[in-house]
Amino acid sequence: MCDWSPVYAELDRWLTSGKVANFWWRDDDAIEQTPQLENLLKLCDAKETPITLAVIPAYAVTELAEQTEVRGHISIAVHGYSHQNYAPKTEKKRELGLHRESLIVLSELAEGFGKLKAMFPDGFNQALVPPWNRIDELLVEQLSSLGFSSLSTFQPRQAHYASPGLRQINCHIDPIEWHGTRSLVSADVLVEQTRVLLERQRLGLIDAKEPLGLLTHHLVHDDAIWGFIESFIKMVQNHPASQFVIGLEHPSD
Ligand SMILES: [Zn+2]
Repeated sequence: MCDWSPVYAELDRWLTSGKVANFWWRDDDAIEQTPQLENLLKLCDAKETPITLAVIPAYAVTELAEQTEVRGHISIAVHGYSHQNYAPKTEKKRELGLHRESLIVLSELAEGFGKLKAMFPDGFNQALVPPWNRIDELLVEQLSSLGFSSLSTFQPRQAHYASPGLRQINCHIDPIEWHGTRSLVSADVLVEQTRVLLERQRLGLIDAKEPLGLLTHHLVHDDAIWGFIESFIKMVQNHPASQFVIGLEHPSD
C-alpha cells in the first residue's frame, strides 16, 4: 500500500555511513481488553516488534495486566491519570496543566505511577506519556521526584533530558488524520515525513540518538490505519540499516 522507496533510498545513505536508524512504537489509551487491543498485540507478536503501551491509570483493569504479562516485548507507560481535559474550550486539551493546583496534579500522577507499577511488575518502565502530548514545564521539573525516569511527547526532542534525571523520547509519526477523516493520513505524506525525519537526523539537524517513534491509538484504527502500521513495520524490518528498539528503555540512549 505504501511506496517506501524514498525512505529506502535515505536508509541506503545510513547504510553507507555505517549507521543504523532506530525506530520505536508507542500506542496510547489502553485501559482494558478489547478486540482492537487483541489485534494490536497479535500484530506485535507476529512481527516480534517491541511496543510501549501508554495506559490510563484511573481506569486500567486487572485483566489488562493478565493479557500483557506473558509478552516480554511490551513495556508499560503512565498515560496521565484520568485523561480528562481541564483546559477551557479556548485552549487545546490538556490534563497535565496548571489549570488545577500542581500539588493535586502531581499527587494524581504519583497515584497512577504506583498503581501501574503494582499492576505490571515486569513491564513497567517509569515513563510518563502526557495525554494529548501536553504537559506544563513546571510539572515536568517535578516528575523525577515522583519516580519517573522518562517522558514521551510528540515532535523531535529539544534535549536528551527534559529535566535532570528525566530522559525524553518522543514520537514523530502519527498516521491518523485527527482533524479530518480520522482515517489514514495520505500514505505519500507519511512516507515523506519519515524520509525527512531520517534525513534531518543524518544531517545532524535533529537528535539522531532519539529513536523515531510511531504513535498509534488502537481503539480508533480502521483497516487503512492497520494496513499502514503493518507496512511501516515491514519497511523498518526489511532494511539492514533500520531496526525497532524498546524506545523508553533504549540502552544506548
Ligand atoms: Zn491519549
